[in-house]
Amino acid sequence: MGVERMKNSMKAVTVSAIGSFVQGERDIPRPKAGEVLVRVAVTGLCRTDLKLIRSGHRDLSLPRIPGEEVVGVVAENGPGAVRHSVGARVYVYPGEWCGRCPACRTGAENLCREMRIMGFHRDGGFAEYVIVPEKSLIALDDACCFHDAVFAEPLSCCINALELSRLSAGERIGIWGGGPAGTLLKRAARHMGADVVVIEPDGERRERIGGRETAAGELFDVCIPAVGDGEAYRAALEHLAPRGRLVAFSGLPAHAACRAADYNHLHYHEQTVVGAYGCALRHGATALELIVSGAVVVSDLVSHTLPLSALDAALDLVAERRCMKIHLDPKE
Ligand SMILES: [Zn+2]
Repeated sequence: MGVERMKNSMKAVTVSAIGSFVQGERDIPRPKAGEVLVRVAVTGLCRTDLKLIRSGHRDLSLPRIPGEEVVGVVAENGPGAVRHSVGARVYVYPGEWCGRCPACRTGAENLCREMRIMGFHRDGGFAEYVIVPEKSLIALDDACCFHDAVFAEPLSCCINALELSRLSAGERIGIWGGGPAGTLLKRAARHMGADVVVIEPDGERRERIGGRETAAGELFDVCIPAVGDGEAYRAALEHLAPRGRLVAFSGLPAHAACRAADYNHLHYHEQTVVGAYGCALRHGATALELIVSGAVVVSDLVSHTLPLSALDAALDLVAERRCMKIHLDPKE
């Protein structure tokens, strides 16, 4: 087994009530059977964390240490956990699944009826250490630095969405939103041989990511709103080609979630609307391959690397869209 333990307490962010959090020292948890204690090297901040901390989330239970994008080093193996030695560099798939239910049996463990998501149902990576099931870990290639590897989680969600969209080479895809998720979708879709357009209303961001506005009458085989905005969903449906597929990728605020689609429009144009939520373990392996091979470049998407102690300021940057990807260093 082996242990890499230097101290008994760790820095952590805890959300006890929606809208606020506290930073403080917590006991370092001990791994139980089949679990591994991971020392967090980098944790990614995403818009979901902003939603979770400041407005709440369907899958959140409190109190909670958030953080679902984690890479790090194995610090201690619990009883029976033997796949990764202490000191091994690992990517953490954020899900914990039963492996027996219908969703798990079809390879969609993200839809497991007993799904427990790190940072939502159980403590996550806004801390120096996190407990994870051994089966959620994927060993990192030596050539892959932590700051690149941590993109495997958001990229996995994009790969899941693109799979569900049935996108094929040569097809046209429109992606609404040129933030980190929209840009990862763009790069993964381009790697699949698709003709990609990113639609971004913010002029500065549009220039940076090579996006544009839609032309009148322009149609796409696949439309993906990568921004939680009802207007993006409306525009995406309007620009969907006959037999086109719209992927409900970004969640909408509750007040905007029940927009009525025009079912006659779907009927006459044989269009499909498909949801995409999270990712399965296998998407993590695919995402890491794409990152390590350079097929999907990620390093230029990091706009800020901040200490965990700057979380509140980091959340403001996300809320005001004044950043691309923010990485947090839990040691500071
Ligand atoms: Zn299951």
